Amino acid sequence: MALLRKKKKLYEGKAKVLFEGPEPGTIIQYFKDDATAFNNKKKDIINGKGVLNNRISESIMTHLNRAGIPTHFIKRINMREQLVKKVDIVPIEVIVRNVAAGGICTRLGLTEGDPLPRTLIEFCYKSDELDDPLISDDHIYCFGWVEPYELDEIKIYALRINDILTGLFAAANLQLVDFKIEFGRLQHEDHSEIVLADEISPDSCRLWDLDTKQKLDKDVFRRDLGNLTEAYIDVARRLGIRIDSNKLHEQHEEQE
Ligand code: 5GP
Repeated sequence: MALLRKKKKLYEGKAKVLFEGPEPGTIIQYFKDDATAFNNKKKDIINGKGVLNNRISESIMTHLNRAGIPTHFIKRINMREQLVKKVDIVPIEVIVRNVAAGGICTRLGLTEGDPLPRTLIEFCYKSDELDDPLISDDHIYCFGWVEPYELDEIKIYALRINDILTGLFAAANLQLVDFKIEFGRLQHEDHSEIVLADEISPDSCRLWDLDTKQKLDKDVFRRDLGNLTEAYIDVARRLGIRIDSNKLHEQHEEQE
């Protein structure tokens, strides 16, 4: 029997676990089946979600890499894990919105589905205890979370990612309503580089069928609209990802 190598756990989040990677400067990102919403107030285990998000995020990150967006993604290792570059995550969630939905409707009294006058970028401070509060550019400068030139880069990347992904999803008959992305600093010898990190999946995007407006993202879980696994399988298949339903429940054995 093969000897299993124990990996050192570095961090456990709501949907992923990070382990030390095989080489210095690398990390293994493990996708769990846990689903949470409303800052952990609603929780469940959705069989296969981790496998689907691993595959969908791999496909999107690969597409973005090819389009010239620097990302932390190196390669997928197995059904639940991917190898990524080690970065220092900046403590800001970047939200890009094309259509009104979710938080902005509550905050500004908009109707879900209303088109926005233009693409809108919002920032939230990454803090579970504080419920990821909305912040302005000036909070970011004031507290020194990101240098002004880095924030300029982040905004340019966010809009380019939106353009690229809007096209990718439109080809799959999906509307990219909004999404959340995170960035990290990749340390080079004499400078650091802002790169896209974390994941992009139906956990972090709102995706609606272009014709029927059917929701195929985590709102299915948040609002009890049906079977989340089936919605994510639909997204994966539309993106041309071959999903073997028998392998959705595979766990990887090396978790500590
Ligand atoms: P809202 O602010 O409307 O709740 O979220 C806007 C978009 O960002 C949605 O696509 C939502 O899924 C995503 N989003 C916001 N906060 C989080 C978060 O903490 N985790 C994940 N995975 N996605 C988030």
